[in-house]
Amino acid sequence: MLIAITVILMTATPALAAAGERLAKYISTRETAVAPPAGGGAAVVPPGDTRDRVLLSGWGPVARNLGAYLRANGIPVTVTTLHPDLAAEAEAEGHTVVRGEAIKASVLHEVGMASVRLIVIGENSGEETTHIAEVLHNVAPGVPIVARPRESTDVAGLHHAEVARIVDTQRAVTEPLSWAVLDLLGIDHVTVGKPDPTVAVAFAPAPESHCPHTGAVRPVLPKNAGCTGCLKQGKHEWVHLRICLSCGYVGCCDSSPERHAGAHSAETDHPIAGSAEPGETWAWCFLDGIRIGPAAERSRTL
Ligand SMILES: [Zn+2]
Ligand SMILES: [Zn+2]
Ligand SMILES: [Zn+2]
Repeated sequence: MLIAITVILMTATPALAAAGERLAKYISTRETAVAPPAGGGAAVVPPGDTRDRVLLSGWGPVARNLGAYLRANGIPVTVTTLHPDLAAEAEAEGHTVVRGEAIKASVLHEVGMASVRLIVIGENSGEETTHIAEVLHNVAPGVPIVARPRESTDVAGLHHAEVARIVDTQRAVTEPLSWAVLDLLGIDHVTVGKPDPTVAVAFAPAPESHCPHTGAVRPVLPKNAGCTGCLKQGKHEWVHLRICLSCGYVGCCDSSPERHAGAHSAETDHPIAGSAEPGETWAWCFLDGIRIGPAAERSRTL
C-alpha cells in the first residue's frame, strides 16, 4: 500500500519527490545524529531533539503532494497560507494550518517555531522564495530550509539565506521525464546521477590566489547530471566532471577525450570551473591555466 502511494505521489510530484524522500529519511532518524548526505549539507540532528514537524510555507499542488507524502511517513505538517480557500484545502488534508504569511512574527509565533524541524518553501515565485527564506533563516537559524521556487531560481540569494536544498522545477522534472520516455521506448537507460541537482555549489576562492577572474564566481546549481556535451553526443563516459562556477554548466575535464568544460569556458568567457567530484574543493581558471584553492575557512557547499 505504502509503495503504491509512493509510486503515485512520485509520479504526481516529480519536482519534490526526491526531496520528500530525503526529508522523510532525515526526519524519521530522530534519535541519532544524521551524517551529512553526499555532496555536503548541514543536516545534523542533535540527539534528543524534540522538534517534530515540517513547516510548509505556502499551499498548492506540489505542497499538497509533499504534505501527503510526509504524513504517510508519520511526519506532522504545519501549513501557512494567506489565502482562505487554500487554508481550507490544507485543513481538509488533515494538516495544522496557520493563516497568514510565514514572514510575519504573529504567524510564526502561532506556528511555534520551537517545534519546527525543517522548513519547505514550495509554492512561491523566485523572488518571494528568497525573501521568505531570508526571514525564516533569521528567525530560526538552525532549521534547514528546502526551497522549490515556482519559476526562476535565485541560486545566489537562496544560498546566501543558507537554504540547504534548492529544487529547480525544470531541472527536477528532466530525469523523470527522460526515464518515462526511455522506459516506453524499451531502452535500458544510463543513470548518471551526479552532481546532486539540489545542492548549490558555492566556491570561496583562497584570497592569496593569483587569478584575477574570481569575481566571476557565484553560487550555482548543477545544470546536468553528467557532462552536458558528452550526453548531447550520445556518450556517457568521461574521466572527471567540472562545474562552471558562473552558470552551473557541467562538463568533462581536460583529461577526458572531449574536454567539454574547457570548451564551454572558451565559448562563454566563463573563466573558472570547480571540481564536481565528491570531496574535491578546488577550482581551475582556464584563462590563467592555474588551480585555485578554497579559502582557508573551507568553502561551504550547502
Ligand atoms: Zn584566472
Ligand atoms: Zn564531455
Ligand atoms: Zn558557464
